[in-house]
Amino acid sequence: MVEVDLNHIYKKYEGNDKYSVNDFDLHIKPKEFIVFVGPSGCGKSTTLRMIAGLEDISKGTLEIDGKVMNDVAPKDRNIAMVFQNYALYPHMTIYDNMAFGLKLRHYKKEDIDKRVKNAAKILGLEDYLDKKPGALSGGQRQRVALGRAIVRDAPIFLMDEPLSNLDAKLRVSMRAEIAKLHQRLGTTSIYVTHDQTEAMTLADRVVVMSVGHVQQIGTPLEVYNEP
Ligand code: ADP
Ligand code: ADP
Repeated sequence: MVEVDLNHIYKKYEGNDKYSVNDFDLHIKPKEFIVFVGPSGCGKSTTLRMIAGLEDISKGTLEIDGKVMNDVAPKDRNIAMVFQNYALYPHMTIYDNMAFGLKLRHYKKEDIDKRVKNAAKILGLEDYLDKKPGALSGGQRQRVALGRAIVRDAPIFLMDEPLSNLDAKLRVSMRAEIAKLHQRLGTTSIYVTHDQTEAMTLADRVVVMSVGHVQQIGTPLEVYNEP
């Protein structure tokens, strides 16, 4: 079980006079799929990055399973993250791309092998492990980025506009894959997008943001089918 609590979180970047995130308050239940949605610049990425520990929290606390995480280093947070610009190492094979983070963390060779092959199986990449990223399609490369994130079995899965570099058709099919992946991994997932359709189809609950504020939190039905 992994619960994530954002307790009245604020963020002001150095040099800015305004807060980029104001009073973000949310209790995320174990295995929930939360989507942050809203226009560019409203603070979605900043909030996600604070959860990952890639940005400091100016005010408020982040708790994971009741433990305050504000000062815990990103590598000690047990979080998987996928970015929009999922740079793969072009000269490494798909296998090595997926193994890279594990090698850095000194996982044993046999353990790495098991994890990479398991992720490849889940993502349908088994036949591509010896290939280089240049030989793969956009969707396959995105799967490698997902694979790189899931090999450590982190219980929290953060995704920042992971599909926005894909064409519309691929976005729809990858969206379904992400929904399945969330179910299969049993993670508590948070997904950032500016696309309402993505929010509607993926989310257990949607957090609608506008310029640094949370406007509304609810199920897709509550948020998008208001009378
Ligand atoms: P979104 O993900 O919704 O597009 P962001 O979280 O990226 O929004 O940005 C929220 C606000 O914070 C914007 O006004 C943006 O300009 C500002 N911002 C983001 N990153 C930085 C930074 N490193 N330094 C200063 N301001 C930033
Ligand atoms: P982890 O999943 O633990 O973050 P990664 O294997 O994804 O480890 O990569 C470590 C870092 O290197 C990440 O920040 C990633 O974005 C970055 N990275 C991965 N591939 C490239 C690349 N081809 N060029 C530059 N940076 C990259």
